[in-house]
Amino acid sequence: PGKKVLIVYAHQEPKSFNGSLLKIAVEELTKQGCSVTVSDLYAMQFEPRATRNDIVGETSQNTPLSKASGLQSPHQFPLFWFSMPAILKGWMDRVLVQGFAYDLSKAYDGGLLQDKLSLFSFTTGGSEEKYAIRGGIRCLLWPMQHGIMHFCGVKVLEPHICYAPKHASEEKRKEMLTAWTQRLKTLWKEEPIDCSPEWYFK
Ligand code: FAD
Ligand code: ZN
Repeated sequence: PGKKVLIVYAHQEPKSFNGSLLKIAVEELTKQGCSVTVSDLYAMQFEPRATRNDIVGETSQNTPLSKASGLQSPHQFPLFWFSMPAILKGWMDRVLVQGFAYDLSKAYDGGLLQDKLSLFSFTTGGSEEKYAIRGGIRCLLWPMQHGIMHFCGVKVLEPHICYAPKHASEEKRKEMLTAWTQRLKTLWKEEPIDCSPEWYFK
């Protein structure tokens, strides 16, 4: 209760499965007494490009996110090309800037956003079985969870993956949504993952 939560949401369609997962997160976390903010990147027409307008002074400290301090940050998105949608990558590029999120000698466990938590909640087109036989899905998360979040000092909770909602039955989809609600109920009791190469590549 009282936790500040920023949900960074990247889907164009409110009626999508991602939209439903977002709605659940907002409702459940608000019910718990968290103060929840949603950055709906497409609706905001978020500018994902780091252009020369971003570069003022010695470091680019002009990004609009100094207000982000103290936040726990779930990200909700569909997997695009083994990664996040460009608009969300652009959010990372433009918000997690030097001097705010990390500094030359302050990275990983020493990163500037310590005491914060992040959670990647995403959907896929491919099934869990296919991912399992093709090398697993955790290695895709190395750049996002380790290269970005851990680099900035943010601790990472277990990702929440809804596999192939498009190809699931209505019943299975409802089950996936219920599982997300259930997880959120005990989210704050979770320990972060051990964000080391073994978690991703073992
Ligand atoms: P939707 O299609 O919106 O939802 C699926 C179904 O759930 C729909 O029928 C919807 O009506 C229904 N639904 C929504 N809300 C509810 C509710 N409350 N109750 C019951 N049903 C509901 N996939 C991969 O695995 N790997 C990749 O590398 C990859 N790359 C991609 C690259 C691009 C450019 C694109 C466009 C897609 C890619 N995909 C990939 C597929 C993509 O990840 C999936 O299409 C996406 O994750 C599905 O999520 P969605 O929210 O868009 O689903
Ligand atoms: Zn790590």
